[in-house]
Amino acid sequence: MENRDCFYCSKDQALESLMIEITKLNVSTLYLNKDQTHKGRCIIAFDRHVRELFQLKQEERYYFIEDISNVANVLDRLFHPDKINYGIYGDLVSHLHIHLVPKVKESNEWGEAFVNSPESKKSLPKNDYDDIIRAIGDGLKQNELIK
Ligand SMILES: [Zn+2]
Repeated sequence: MENRDCFYCSKDQALESLMIEITKLNVSTLYLNKDQTHKGRCIIAFDRHVRELFQLKQEERYYFIEDISNVANVLDRLFHPDKINYGIYGDLVSHLHIHLVPKVKESNEWGEAFVNSPESKKSLPKNDYDDIIRAIGDGLKQNELIK
């Protein structure tokens, strides 16, 4: 059920310009958003091209929420946000995906919805992306040990 017009399916340049793959999860793929206005911001895309949560089988929905929870747990430990925001939009890219956005009270978006595509994105040097990706990967392995 691949959709050629969808960058989560094709994993093309459009995807690479926005995010970096971190790892596969149970039923999804975890990406680090290149815009790190909110440190640790990630995206989790479901494995298949579906538009809506209700199109998942019950078991898939269970594992999708597990994937989201596991990543959120790691982001909480690594970045100590005051709250993680979860955004499922998909107006323009309908493939089911969720934005995980660690928010701190000092942010000028505190108390508001995070800006999905800010005009001035906060890019990091490659080494900093690598460090965050490694830390999240290690954190997910620690989750496995805690279970
Ligand atoms: Zn897709």
